[in-house]
Amino acid sequence: MVTITPPTDAASPQRDGAQAPRPDDGPQVILSFDVEEHHRIEAAAGLTIDPALRAHYAERMDVSTRWLLDRLGESGIRATFFIVGDIALSNPDLVRAIHRAGHEVGSHGWDHRRVHHFTPETFRDDVRRSKDALEQVMGEAVLGYRAPTFSVVRQTAWALDVLAESGLLYDSSIYPVRHDRYGVAEAPRAPFVARGPGREILELPPATWRVVNQNVPAGGGGYFRLLPLAVMRRAIAQIGRECRPAVAMLYFHPWEFDPEQERLPLPALRRWRTYVGVSRTRARLAALLGEGRFVRAVDVARGLSGERAALPRFALSPDAPS
Ligand SMILES: [Zn+2]
Repeated sequence: MVTITPPTDAASPQRDGAQAPRPDDGPQVILSFDVEEHHRIEAAAGLTIDPALRAHYAERMDVSTRWLLDRLGESGIRATFFIVGDIALSNPDLVRAIHRAGHEVGSHGWDHRRVHHFTPETFRDDVRRSKDALEQVMGEAVLGYRAPTFSVVRQTAWALDVLAESGLLYDSSIYPVRHDRYGVAEAPRAPFVARGPGREILELPPATWRVVNQNVPAGGGGYFRLLPLAVMRRAIAQIGRECRPAVAMLYFHPWEFDPEQERLPLPALRRWRTYVGVSRTRARLAALLGEGRFVRAVDVARGLSGERAALPRFALSPDAPS
């Protein structure tokens, strides 16, 4: 395990008083990366992307994911990569490189469509197609799933039944926050058993910071780029103190570490939301890699399988049997 790296970030703990968690007394921290070509992000839905730009994003996804593999390898850290299934066909070498480096490969759907677009039947096909394609390329079972844009919400509670029936060990798609496009604000902040209308599955929710009776989405993505790193650090430390099991699930995208990629032709506000802070993420990640007890999501899920009866249970569906 590496020692603590002095923060290279503008928002250092010295500046604003937050303490970096010590590796030996903090919670278990999961670094997860959602791997998709940049034009598949929700902010770009409805845009026409020309073939040259698509090819550029496919190439940049490869470059930035391999950059991440190098950084994780240098630090001896194993992470979880939720990968769009289609990439198993378009870039099988990248999937194999992730798997060979000891990281977990999970599913991020077939082509990054949100769960709202599916019926239970077509969602089952989407999950199976993605899982099968990734498994064939790496030769190992896919046990984890993350829905594009955290789209397992109240209206799509049936998705939990499908995931439980698809041979998955855990899901990481319910963000316990209030947000216009996703989130279930009342869901537990620590790992829990998520109940759909008929089945249940272990849920590893992204990290939040509880402040003034609200959950601040501090687990990654735009919040990682926009807010000071101190917010993520505070969330991790608070999870260590207050959540049982103490697990902090962080999430990132390879494109967020790629300041050299071409920008999508987005309207001004969406453009700002998408690219704010991209120039500082590499330094932030370098600081974070020295600060936690990192584990893969699948290892946390396996560790919790014996204690499942003791975990909180949360009914996402009003029809869940009691
Ligand atoms: Zn995604």
